[in-house]
Amino acid sequence: MTKDQTRAAGEPLRVAVLGCSGSIGTQTLDVCRRHADRLRVVALSVNSSTDLLVRAAREFGVARVAVADASRAGDPVLSELPDGCEPSFGPEAVTELASLPDVDVVVNALVGFAGIHAGHAALLAGKSLAYANKESIVCGGDLLMPLARPGRLLPVDSEHSAIFQCLVGERPEDVSRIWLTCSGGPFYGRTRDELAGVTAAQALAHPTWTMGAKITIDCSTLMNKGLEVIEAHHLFSQPVDAIRVLVHRQSKIHSMVEFVDGVVKAQLGSSDMRAPIQYALSYPERWDATARRVDWCAEDPFTFGEADETAFGCLALAREAGRVGGTLPCAMNAANEVANESFRKGLCGFLDIERVVARVMELAEAERVESIEQLDEVDARARELARTALSEVRL
Ligand code: MG
Repeated sequence: MTKDQTRAAGEPLRVAVLGCSGSIGTQTLDVCRRHADRLRVVALSVNSSTDLLVRAAREFGVARVAVADASRAGDPVLSELPDGCEPSFGPEAVTELASLPDVDVVVNALVGFAGIHAGHAALLAGKSLAYANKESIVCGGDLLMPLARPGRLLPVDSEHSAIFQCLVGERPEDVSRIWLTCSGGPFYGRTRDELAGVTAAQALAHPTWTMGAKITIDCSTLMNKGLEVIEAHHLFSQPVDAIRVLVHRQSKIHSMVEFVDGVVKAQLGSSDMRAPIQYALSYPERWDATARRVDWCAEDPFTFGEADETAFGCLALAREAGRVGGTLPCAMNAANEVANESFRKGLCGFLDIERVVARVMELAEAERVESIEQLDEVDARARELARTALSEVRL
């Protein structure tokens, strides 16, 4: 990443890891551990996992930590934080870490729309951002992208990292389409009738990637791919309809870019999130890594196909939200966050997720995105609509 002026030449990049106890957060710490000569962890946040926070703060000698869930302030384990490390509490405390003067790079590994505040603060403070919080780009891309300096907002999502890598050295106007690859999820090939009875436990058995619970459910409904279409639309300034979803069950091609001359560039490798995380931190350099190397001679043949948007209606809904734009993707995302959580708790069926999202999209109005406060309101209103829609589908 571009170096910050206040950091002495040759010194490690100073990294804040927001959401350090989740799947992306712990793998980011793995990368920092491996490259301790280049990356120094200086700030950490968790939602509520104070034990993991204390362990990481001690290991990396971190001075600034925040816990989003203020009810954890009395956790006895916090007394074991390193000397001089005072924890702060509440979502605002997490956002504050994103703009600390001694932070060069913020890894935004927060989950859901709520992560937008930290991303926004980091961009306003001119930080480099390794971005894993796709929901906030989906909801607030219109607001965030104009704040991002060239080369300083690096996607961590594997598909978007792949696209970013395919675009290095290319001109945006030479892109004709983006092929966003999709594993198909755990319910690939099932009909709507077969999907009606699937459970959260079945959905959580993702075939390829190891991820947190929220995103794993999104993968099973293909809402994750829908969010990624909108994310790619913002990150790479391409129309929603120029981003094609391509089912590739082997998950070895992480995405492809097709140019106006018909040439296609693809990025391939093993399914290890530490690769895109590390690239977001090493760009424009490449550093050595422990990721498993693919033995191409031993690989199964690659297959490609179209996503079944009839069975998996969330993908079509997200595409539609992306086409309309404005605040509609924010409302759609809020509905999905509510329905996703409800499904995980066994409170609604699998197909109810898309029913709730469709209902909220019918009721929500698409306005021009103007401020983060406006998005907070849209998000809160859509959550209420989603709860009402959920109580209706459950009847
Ligand atoms: Mg992805």
